[in-house]
Amino acid sequence: MSATRLATVIAENGTTVATVEHLMSALSALGVTDARVEIDGPEVPIMDGSAAPFMAALAPKVVPGGPGEAIEVLRPVSVRAGSSFVAILPHPRRRFDVGIDFPDPVIGVQRAIYDIDAEVFGREIAPARTFGRLKDVKRLRRRGYGRGASLENAVAVDGERVANPEGLRFPDEFARHKLLDAVGDLALAGRPILGLYRAHKGGHRLNYQLLAALLSRSENFKIVA
Ligand SMILES: [Zn+2]
Repeated sequence: MSATRLATVIAENGTTVATVEHLMSALSALGVTDARVEIDGPEVPIMDGSAAPFMAALAPKVVPGGPGEAIEVLRPVSVRAGSSFVAILPHPRRRFDVGIDFPDPVIGVQRAIYDIDAEVFGREIAPARTFGRLKDVKRLRRRGYGRGASLENAVAVDGERVANPEGLRFPDEFARHKLLDAVGDLALAGRPILGLYRAHKGGHRLNYQLLAALLSRSENFKIVA
């Protein structure tokens, strides 16, 4: 697994699949730890930029199993880079506390805090779409990249406004989407993590480093049934 600034990429034997985090977040929220995913391209389809289509497709198909194993956080672990940090702390639930701070006035400072289960995730988090600046979307298109990027699959911000005619799905959709990404990134641990994840201006790369730091020392966690 590796992390770029924009997406999480998994790799094995020279094959890579990009942008796994939205699908992984839906699987994780549904409690799925075992799934076979077949894909015929280098990237998971972006759908509408959220995890809602994955939740809608997967939820009716999930076969309830017995209580599975989880990773219980025993000691606080944190990673920082400049003014950004991510941390995971002992906590009895899967709690996510995500703060963002963007210079774009329409985003600004937002914070989303949720205890994640399938119902809360499906209602409050999964519909939150990925986002970017309108000028970046236009620039990518001019260069021939990101042809798939459009107002159909991302929120495009433009200073004090959102360019999408339908507007936002939640006033704090941006923070909720960052929380969605974190759920997906942490799902790459292979088991649900019981703990409080806290981030300020976090991202995929820091999430990856946090997971690696957590799992690198056996005194940081224990596997519980
Ligand atoms: Zn995302």
